[in-house]
Amino acid sequence: MQLFSHPEFDAHETVSFCFDAAAGLRAIIAVHDTHLGKALGGCRMWPYASEADALTDALRLSRGMTYKAALAGLPQGGGKSVIIGDPRRDKTPELMRAMGRAVDRLNGAYVIAEDSGTTVADMRLMAEVTAHVGGLADEQAVAAGRTGDPSPATAKGVFIGIRAAVRHVWQREDLRGLRVAVQGAGNVGYRLCRHLHEAGAQLWVTDLHAPAVERCVKDFGAVAVGMDQIATLDVDVFAPCALGAVLDDASIPAIKAKIVAGAANNQLARPQHDRALMERGIVYAPDYCINAGGIIDIFYEGPDYDAARVDAHLERIGATLTEIFARAAAERRPTGEIADRMAEERFRV
Ligand code: NAD
Repeated sequence: MQLFSHPEFDAHETVSFCFDAAAGLRAIIAVHDTHLGKALGGCRMWPYASEADALTDALRLSRGMTYKAALAGLPQGGGKSVIIGDPRRDKTPELMRAMGRAVDRLNGAYVIAEDSGTTVADMRLMAEVTAHVGGLADEQAVAAGRTGDPSPATAKGVFIGIRAAVRHVWQREDLRGLRVAVQGAGNVGYRLCRHLHEAGAQLWVTDLHAPAVERCVKDFGAVAVGMDQIATLDVDVFAPCALGAVLDDASIPAIKAKIVAGAANNQLARPQHDRALMERGIVYAPDYCINAGGIIDIFYEGPDYDAARVDAHLERIGATLTEIFARAAAERRPTGEIADRMAEERFRV
């Protein structure tokens, strides 16, 4: 297995291979960059088909976290960890504590948080052995009604991003009558629909799960559409809020919306689809910029949590996107490429 010549290796500062025979721990912690601050990133637990797949995920996802935090204007670096194993079968408290000890050995360079396959309860077990655990709502937060769920802030950030894209394309502030197709009405998608509805937009919604669509029809007067229709509707904005890789060779030529802006991670099936969108005259809001509301909210979590400060920071997502759109138009380059460049300007010193 290659490391320094691995295709996903990108000047990562530290890659740790963590092993604990008694607990059955096999894990990788990748710290991509700490120029802006400690590397924050979730811990995935997954039954990877091979160790090489686990390494690829850790390298790729940790790099993504650096770019996301930098573009969100957070004093944070990027990291990610993966535990090789099936979360339903192999997870034990001792395994979680062993992972916590592995994190602790990095002396704070990496701050672990939950991700797919791990839960807040797992993070609490790790917190027994290390102080370097993030995203744990404290008692005060719980008393104030905050659950640690980043979805409300993510949805608000996506709404702010859509407003910025509409301003860029049509020079209008008002979203009344804006036609938006939302793919996926889950934690983020449903809340995004609420913001859009309150701003007077018309909604078309699809979801794998029929009750999620019915809720949007009932609450926001949305039109229910089939899963295979949503990307190609004659609307102003297509908002992917379900799964990744929805922008590909098949979907891009058929998209009628002028704007693609949604919460889903990794929307581009391949990097070149960034340019394919530009060539079709579609304004694409880079996913990791527009969906940063959650990490912004988590950053402010703590005894001094101030909702007004979080809201002010979320508004910066709109300002950053406005700059991305303007630079992309001026330089005739795809928005994703400009977003990467802007992130690098912030963390590469
Ligand atoms: P979620 O699981 O609550 O919602 C996703 C919804 O999409 C579900 O209702 C699911 O039934 C539906 N879905 C799945 N496949 C579909 C398909 N093929 N067509 C239509 N609908 C489909 O997840 P979420 O928290 O709302 O996150 C949505 C997306 O945003 C994910 O890609 C996630 O990675 C990303 N994201 C979420 C956050 C957050 O704060 N929750 C932050 C950043 C990025």
